Amino acid sequence: IQGSTYDRERVSRVTKEHTYGTWRKQGPWNPLVVERAEGVYFYDKDGKAYLDFSSQLMCSNLGHSNSNVIEAMHRQAEKLAYIQPSYTIDARAELAEELSSVLPGNLDRFFFGTSGTEANEAAVKIIRMYNSSSGKVKIISMYNSYHGSTAASISLTGDFRRIQAEPDFGINGVVHAPPPYCYRCPFGLKYPDCGLACADYIEYMIKNEGNVGGLIMEPVTGTNGVVIPPPGYMERVREITEENDVIMVTDEVMSGWGRTGEWFAVDHWNIKPDILTTAKGITSAYFPLSLTATDRRISEYFEDHYFAHGHTYEAHPVGMAAATAAIREYKRLNLIERAREMGKYLSGRLEELRERHPSVGDVRSIGLFAAVEIVRNRETREPFNTYRDKVEGRPLMTDRIASEMMKKGVYVNTWVSHFVIAPPLIITKEEIDAGVSAMDDALRLADSEVK
Ligand code: PLP
Repeated sequence: IQGSTYDRERVSRVTKEHTYGTWRKQGPWNPLVVERAEGVYFYDKDGKAYLDFSSQLMCSNLGHSNSNVIEAMHRQAEKLAYIQPSYTIDARAELAEELSSVLPGNLDRFFFGTSGTEANEAAVKIIRMYNSSSGKVKIISMYNSYHGSTAASISLTGDFRRIQAEPDFGINGVVHAPPPYCYRCPFGLKYPDCGLACADYIEYMIKNEGNVGGLIMEPVTGTNGVVIPPPGYMERVREITEENDVIMVTDEVMSGWGRTGEWFAVDHWNIKPDILTTAKGITSAYFPLSLTATDRRISEYFEDHYFAHGHTYEAHPVGMAAATAAIREYKRLNLIERAREMGKYLSGRLEELRERHPSVGDVRSIGLFAAVEIVRNRETREPFNTYRDKVEGRPLMTDRIASEMMKKGVYVNTWVSHFVIAPPLIITKEEIDAGVSAMDDALRLADSEVK
């Protein structure tokens, strides 16, 4: 697109007329026309700057326009832009070594797809291929989760997007478990008196379902509210999966790559999953790439069993180069430690919002990964909206607040009743202050409707 012939109005009109906006009715869609991005900012076609307070879809962890990643992609594209995946290249071996240096040590063989969805589709197939002789086909996942948009991954998904897709687009054999969401405990209990009832319930499900072969969970739930499991939960779940010979998959599509202040969220509890899936930050979104990493036991199984899976674009050379360069940037810039440090600062600033605004029900954060959950009533925790409002296109309080923030030049990701704050890991304290201050002003909208 040349700037001179495509003005803002034309880009918007042609986009709307000929391309789909996703997860929405097409009619009311009015996409922002963006021109460029740099560091923690992106700029619309009129030149207005927006602070990227959510790394777009919680994926641009390195920030925008990182020249080392761009140059690595450029060099690879010039040398070899594509080769079919049963051949290999330097960049694939380099990436495998870089991955081994940051992933939990038991994960030693990697499948590369192009999206988080595909990473989880591959995980489901791997579980079912591995368990083909035992018939343990069922998979447990959590209700308030998102794992992707196609058949297996939308069935794994626990949030309302699954309900919409059922029964026509899903797969059989997925059963959902109550999540460790302490602010809205499914059992109405309080930690630690609850004795981790939600973890024990997983064991109850395994016993009663009979043929459970896998369990998938986001170790820190992303889109559905940055839900951080209470102490002891992850260890207990790992114990239960081991005792019952259930393959544990941790979906780190969003929680990986420094987001929580560790390379991967599982590192907070020193959990070694049997399979780890990830995407987004693996290239910091400079290229569509995902990873399904398997434990030695599973990789050995496929030494003499057919690995019945693959794509034309798997292990794409430009993706291999982008991911290697991105991992080297996380290391060079010490971004994992930085996320931990800046996360403390962000958390302190968000706690101030909880104190000041009656509409703020809960604030949760770990590293540079935070949610601010708003409520109409703090006592009853009644939300302003439910998922039905979202599906049926009614205006959400969170969206009204986010629009107000956009006017002030701050972009933040919203879900039904909360904001997901997840800025690029390079963000400074001053930039955090600017984002929090825009939210501070805009939250008055919700305060005025508190009951
Ligand atoms: N898993 C998790 C935890 C996610 O947050 C997402 C996307 O947000 C996905 C899977 C799906 O990834 P993608 O949108 O790349 O298909």
